[in-house]
Formats: sequence, structure tokens, C-alpha cells
Amino acid sequence: MHIREQLAIPRQLPRELDAEERLDNFDEVSKGFDEQTALVEANRCLQCRKPPCIMGCPIGNDIPRFIALMRERKFEEAYWTIRETSSMPSICSRVCPHEFQCEGACIRAKKDAPVAIGLLERFLADWMIINGKNLSPRCAPKNGLKVAIIGSGPAGITVAHALSHRGYNCTIFESLPVFGGMLSVGIPNYRLPRNIIGAELYALQQCGVNVKTGITVGQDLTLSELREQGYSSVFLGIGAYKSKRLGLDGENSTKGVMSGVDYLVKVLTGHEIALGDRVLVVGGGNVAIDVARVALRSGWKNVSILYRRTRDEMPASKMEVHHVEEEGVDLQFLTTPTRIISQNGQLTGVECIRMELGEVDITGRCVPRPQPGSEFIIEADALIGAVGQKVIPVHDATVPVEITPRGTYVVDPVTLQTSVDWIFAGGDTVLGPQTVAKAVCQGLDAAESMHRYMQGLI
Ligand code: SF4
Repeated sequence: MHIREQLAIPRQLPRELDAEERLDNFDEVSKGFDEQTALVEANRCLQCRKPPCIMGCPIGNDIPRFIALMRERKFEEAYWTIRETSSMPSICSRVCPHEFQCEGACIRAKKDAPVAIGLLERFLADWMIINGKNLSPRCAPKNGLKVAIIGSGPAGITVAHALSHRGYNCTIFESLPVFGGMLSVGIPNYRLPRNIIGAELYALQQCGVNVKTGITVGQDLTLSELREQGYSSVFLGIGAYKSKRLGLDGENSTKGVMSGVDYLVKVLTGHEIALGDRVLVVGGGNVAIDVARVALRSGWKNVSILYRRTRDEMPASKMEVHHVEEEGVDLQFLTTPTRIISQNGQLTGVECIRMELGEVDITGRCVPRPQPGSEFIIEADALIGAVGQKVIPVHDATVPVEITPRGTYVVDPVTLQTSVDWIFAGGDTVLGPQTVAKAVCQGLDAAESMHRYMQGLI
């Protein structure tokens, strides 16, 4: 195809459920590309000689190569090209913020719209699942060495995948009652259907990975007990699942005030949470958006999101912001809560203040500043804070692993080895809250180091 023809192809849109079709269920909103649409979109890729999209991908997926194979309808080969660097394309393609990663770097983003790399990756992963293909490469014969993986999120799954295929006996210990960590209880089904997580679990089990849920290491089982049970090495991939506080007086004691992660975990594990008629969510990331959309789907109709910066600075993916607005959530920008108002211990309202953007800080974003005298009150029955998460390290006095003042593990930046030589750590546990792709990247690095450690090479 001539480059002029390629440039004339507009970015293809995925099939989606209409807003009114979505609100009484948790069905996946985006249905992805069908084969014909995927092939049209694949033809938009210019096969750049020095592809910036690869630089934008935290795990360095060979994007032009998998797209070139797709064009030849070699879907299985294209999938395995991604699997050279990614342990879970079906999940990354759904939940990674592509516009800030590969698609943000795509050359076509400069003139019109980037190639829909995430949707092409998703098409391939779905094609493999729909066609009953094996998602697991051949497993090496078992070498007799045991590895314990704490946490079944993206970093833990990646370590289990990499080491089980090299012959190690891997056991994943998950404190939640379900496999997948926050993938299962922090990301709602309408963004990540449970059968997709189930397919990744099945692929791990096919290579002999043992998954034990409902076990909290440090409480039910100590690190030294794991050592005594013959585990040669341990990977800590416990994630960053504790919500940061809003910093308001009465936050912990007022009924109706709660954290976004707690709310998602409860609803997504089957609990009913009564919110009331007027729901306020605070934050601009995907957790805030998910809280609002889950509240809507749970029957609470009057939901607003307060964000202290503007739409342009929102860390949530643009598609999620588009979806939440389509579903009727009211977005209030340059607004932050300053005071909880309650009666008899029950939230009745929130005092807020308008913000303005000031100078750019070291993160490259403008610092929001309160506008004195702009305070106003919003009536509210629920206030849900989703302003970031932090790491709560494993509490285990039997093996004191060094942690930083912000609660993340101290690791060697190359090997991801902690202060205890047989314990490695990676993902949000080390980086603080990050994307799934970055956790996968650290899982791959940690698995390589653990292998070298167990073989006496480091
Ligand atoms: Fe294709 Fe965009 Fe990557 Fe270039 S930067 S190879 S156009 S996906």
C-alpha cells in the first residue's frame, strides 16, 4: 500500500456498548476490533525504521513486527511476537494507558491519531482465546527448586510465568480470596472481564504453578517458614493497594466517607455498599473513574467527580473519561474538598474550594492553588477518596527486609534483590503505584535475577 493511502486511513473505532446498554450490568464496554477493522487499522502503521512506539512501551514490545505479521493474517505468530516481551497481552491491552505509552509516542500522533496499538494487541490476545489456542509456551522439565511469589498481580504473574517455564516449582500466595490481586478486585469487569484473568490463570496452571488464595504472608505464614519449607527464593509483589487519605478532619470517623480502593474491593467481591442519593468522588485517575462507574452500575444515579486540576491534567485514560461522561457522571474540575460536614456522625455535605493552576512543578504539571473566598458547599451522602495509593509492606519480624521511608522495598536497581539476598521485589511494591506494563517489566527483570541467584550466578 502506498504511504499516501495509508495516511488517508482514519483511526478505526472499536465496537462499544451504548451508554444506556451499560448501566444495569458490568458487561465489557469496549468490544474491540473485529478482524476486518483490525486489518484496516494495522494498515495505518508506517513501519517506521526507528519506531518510537517501542521506546514508549515500558516492556519494549516489538510493535511494528507484530503489526506486520497481523497484516499477513499470521495472528498466532503476531501474538507470540508480543509474548517475547509481555507475559499478559490480553490484560495489558485492556488496562494499560496506551495514550501515555506506545500510542503517545507513535509517529502518527503528530499529524492525526496514533495507530490503535492497544486495540490491535487486544485483537490478537482475544483471537488466541476465542480460537482455543494455548497461551503458554512449552514448559522446561522441573529442576526441583521451589520459588514463592507473594501477590498474584501483574508482577507476580510475570515472575511465575517466567520461572515456571524455566523449570522452577512456583507457588503464588495471595491474601485476597481471588487470583489476580487488584486486577480482580480493583479493576471492574466492564474494563477487564474475569474470563480474561481466568485464561491467564489457566495458562499458569498448565505449567504447574500452584496458587494459594486467602493467605497473608507475615500473618498466616512467615517468610522464615517459607525458607524452612524449602523455598530457594521469594518474590514480593504485593502491589500498592492502600488508599491515601484525603487529609480532612473526621475522615476516618464519619459515616459515608470511605476510600476508593476499599469501595471497589468490597463491591467487586460481592458486597452491597449503600451510598445514598448524592455521591462525590475525589480524584482524577482511573480509580476515581472506576469508583464513579461502579457506583452508577450499583444503582446510585447522582455521582460527581471532583478534580483539583483540569481535564487536560487528568491521569485517567481519555477513553475512561469519555465513557464516564457518556454515562452521566458530572465532572467538576479545579475543585477540591476542604471540610467534611456531618450530622450525628453521618456525612451530609462537603465544603469545597475552587482552584487555579500555578507554576509547573518537577512532575511537569501545574500546581493547583486554592482561590481564597471561593468556598462553597455540596450536599452529599457519600464521599469517596481516590487520590492515590501507597504500599503497605509485609509485616514480618522473622525476616526484616529493608524498606524506604515511603514504605516501598529497598532493592538493587538492576537485580531487584532486597536487603535479604534470597528475597526479590518488584512492581508497585518497589515503584509505588504504576502501570501494569511497568509491573510486568519489573517482573521480567526480577525473574531473571532470581534465576541467576538460584543458579549461583549472583
Ligand atoms: Fe507504526 Fe506508529 Fe510504531 Fe511507526 S510509531 S511503527 S506508525 S505504530
